[in-house]
Amino acid sequence: MSDICVECGHATQTEQVAPFEFRHGQKTATIQDSQTVCGSCGTVSYVGEQASRHERAVAAKIREMDGLLSPEELRNIRIKYAFRQTDLEAMLSVGPKTWTRWERGKVPQSKAADTLIRVLSTNPDVARDLMQGAGIENPAAAAILADIDEDARRLATEVLQADIATGSPDAGRLAARAVEIVWAVRHGAGMKAA
Ligand SMILES: [Zn+2]
Repeated sequence: MSDICVECGHATQTEQVAPFEFRHGQKTATIQDSQTVCGSCGTVSYVGEQASRHERAVAAKIREMDGLLSPEELRNIRIKYAFRQTDLEAMLSVGPKTWTRWERGKVPQSKAADTLIRVLSTNPDVARDLMQGAGIENPAAAAILADIDEDARRLATEVLQADIATGSPDAGRLAARAVEIVWAVRHGAGMKAA
C-alpha cells in the first residue's frame, strides 16, 4: 500500500475495514472489506490487492443474492465435459475471458447464463448441441459425450433384455421404458462426475 494519497498528495493514508454498499438490480447489498482511506481529504480507494479482493467480494455477494453457481461449481461442470474456458465462452456467446473471470470469481455470471449452465451440466444433449452450434473441435469433450451415450445404450439394452426375458411386454411399453431409461441414465451420467 502506498502512503501517498493520489488526490491530495499527503502521506496520511491508512487501511480500514469498512462497509461498502452497492446496488444490484432492485436491491441494496453491503459487504465489509479492506480499503485505504486518506486522513487528510477522506478519499477512499482500493489499492493493490484490496482492489481484487473487493472485486471478488462484490461478485460473491451478487452470486449469493441471485443464487448463482459458485466458481468451483463452474469449474467442475467444465472439467466434467473436458471443455476449455474458450469452448464455453463460444457456446454461451459471451466475450473472450468471460468464463475465465467467472471461474476466478472476479465477475458473477448473469442469471440467464447460470440457468443455461445448470441445464447443460445435467443434460449432455444440451452440452453437445451448444458445442456443435459453436463449431467447437474438442476431441476430449466429444469422447466424454460419446461415453455417456454408450453408457445409456448399454444400460437400456440390459434392462430391456431383462424385461423381455421375465415378462411379455408389448412393443409400446418397451419403447416407453427405453426412453425412460435413456433419460435417467443420461441425467445420472451427467451428474455423476459433478
Ligand atoms: Zn488525500
